Amino acid sequence: MQFKCVSAFAALCALLLGLAACTPERMEPKDTSRMKMNASSQFYKDTFHNDGNVTLSIEGSWLGMARDYLFGGQQRFPESALPVSVLDIQALTAEQELSLSWLGHSTTLINLEGRLILVDPMFAKRASPLSFIGPKRFHETLPVTAEDLPALDAVLISHDHYDHLDREAVQTLAPKTGKFYVPLGVDAHLRNWGIPENQIVALDWWERAEHLPGLSFVATPAQHFSGRGLLDRNRTLWASWTILGQSKRVFYSGDSGYARHFKDIGNAYGPFDLTLIECGAYSEYWPSVHMTPEQTIQAHLDLGGKHLVPVHWSTFNLAIHHWREPMQRATASASSHGLCMTAPLPGEVLTSFRVSPKPQ
Ligand SMILES: [Zn+2]
Repeated sequence: MQFKCVSAFAALCALLLGLAACTPERMEPKDTSRMKMNASSQFYKDTFHNDGNVTLSIEGSWLGMARDYLFGGQQRFPESALPVSVLDIQALTAEQELSLSWLGHSTTLINLEGRLILVDPMFAKRASPLSFIGPKRFHETLPVTAEDLPALDAVLISHDHYDHLDREAVQTLAPKTGKFYVPLGVDAHLRNWGIPENQIVALDWWERAEHLPGLSFVATPAQHFSGRGLLDRNRTLWASWTILGQSKRVFYSGDSGYARHFKDIGNAYGPFDLTLIECGAYSEYWPSVHMTPEQTIQAHLDLGGKHLVPVHWSTFNLAIHHWREPMQRATASASSHGLCMTAPLPGEVLTSFRVSPKPQ
């Protein structure tokens, strides 16, 4: 029964993301990667697993989900293109401690104590393997292109879904990026795309890598799934990232359902000066792999976050809810908890968590 549900969900995902015409990319882990995968407690039966073996099986009927998708009537994308702010790199890098710019969806450029870190670079027009079909970006322009970004200390990737891992962006960024940090198995994608071996660091959950003295990355857990085609489900790991600077700490959720790992990460590495947590693409049909906005707020509380910047919203139509709903619900929930939350335009610079320049 569960297999049927998963198959049905996979079929709908294929419909949503235009994957039906896609064949999986060739991806074979190197021997060293395979050894690390085999040693991972998340890896067995040749696939990765969530804690508690939570799967992406849908709640309710597949037919009900298909009906809601086709006839639900929600306004899932804006009537016209949403505005963006052109990224002011100088404003971002002038900050000594912590500043950031959300570039749309989950892509965020962080300046942590003078080091530039980019998470989940995705600059494509569509979250799809095909250029002419699949969820289209709500913005006509980008705050900055991959070509125009300055040299980066590190790029962190949470998992291999198309809305988080953009082959063209990775290849464009490679010559100016120190290292790519990825969850186990995702390294094979990068290797296949020509990224030099010495630029790739693949980590298991709770594994920590020191990039430079005073800057470390920990691949922390998430509750999700992976795959870029119909035949490679969960062949690579998914993760959140804990970023440890000299005096500031940042957490990025990746994609995740709500689970106890947020408390565990908060206990291990909290409190966090800043959390970037997914807020969008949720559904009552797949409650285990994405969070409701209220759960986003709860995750921030579990982590011991001081300031929340939601990500994964208002960029692609990936679920059945109204496109505005995630931020409306998150704002109400944050307000009821008295939380410090900022939802900037793509490209705006948050410096010491004040928006600059002010939105028009
Ligand atoms: Zn995902």
